[in-house]
Amino acid sequence: VAELVPFVAEQRLVDHHCHGVLLRDADEATLEALLTEGGAFPGGSPFDSAVGVAFRRLCPPVLGLFPGAPVNEYAERRAVLGAGTVNRRFLRAAGLASLCVDTGYAPEPITSPAQLGELAGAHAHEIVRLEVIAEQAAASGVDAAGFGGAVQAELTRRAAHAAGFKSIAAYRVGLELRPERPSAAEVEAAAGQFLRSPRRLAHETLHRFLVWCANDLGKPVQFHAGYGDRDVNLHQCNPLLLTPLIRELTAPVMLLHNYPFHREAGYLAQVFPHVYVDAGLATHNLGFRASALLAEALELTPYGKFLYSSDAFGLPELYYLGAALFRRALSDYLSQQSLREVPDAERIAELMCAGNARRIYQLPS
Ligand SMILES: [Zn+2]
Repeated sequence: VAELVPFVAEQRLVDHHCHGVLLRDADEATLEALLTEGGAFPGGSPFDSAVGVAFRRLCPPVLGLFPGAPVNEYAERRAVLGAGTVNRRFLRAAGLASLCVDTGYAPEPITSPAQLGELAGAHAHEIVRLEVIAEQAAASGVDAAGFGGAVQAELTRRAAHAAGFKSIAAYRVGLELRPERPSAAEVEAAAGQFLRSPRRLAHETLHRFLVWCANDLGKPVQFHAGYGDRDVNLHQCNPLLLTPLIRELTAPVMLLHNYPFHREAGYLAQVFPHVYVDAGLATHNLGFRASALLAEALELTPYGKFLYSSDAFGLPELYYLGAALFRRALSDYLSQQSLREVPDAERIAELMCAGNARRIYQLPS
């Protein structure tokens, strides 16, 4: 394995899409449950996979074990050190400058953005999940006529402190959203349907309404695209399905994950001035193939349009793995493309590691 390009190894990253880490210790079963989007299965181990091999090779040394240590020994070492120490070690080792934290997914207690930033020694910023705001408005007892205004007011209030917004329309209705801004009458009619069973929003008109509200506030709007857990219908998550809506939006459109549609996402980033992409989640899930993934994503994506993200959730190891495999992939890319000796190589690498995110989210440097 070639050495990392020094300026890639040293460059602190902006992770523009991630979640909190568990506050509790993670035993072997928890490690298996959270390693991949699929979790455990009978008769085998999720660690026998590309991401499992990368985990076992890269993570044990951070806790003072030899590379390749068995998972049960690793879990024992984790328990001895405790969650606080393990969280801090991996998050510090990831080498992060800033984090944009999606606070909309917390199936059990996890760190707040401030706690995560403290553990990582990085600045933390919040990304507000649009559907959560709609579901909270519904739970507050608002009626259909008041729903649109209540959502708009809350998003405006939250925008003052948030770095951006995120849509999970992909998880609920797929990405084939219509381009038009829904009228007040359409929003009211859709809200009437939603409020009859308001716990989980899944209504095309309302996902689209939320996106337009976020767009009006001018902050970057993240879209889940491509790879996710078994709740997504992956064939409905091709970012190309967003093309008609992208044509109408004016705020930065941030396409998250994208795999296996990362080449399609690269096309959108090339042809639309306000579209940006990443390869989060896939970067660590593909393990040693992360270099191939990045090379494919960058076939069309302009270097000023690609961002780093881990999409890590729960396990601090995933922040570290995402960062380590991204550095490996970017280093390989710069070397293979003969960019390493070009005077601009360092500037280009810095854009993808941090500069693009700082510019688009207007983060302090
Ligand atoms: Zn995520």
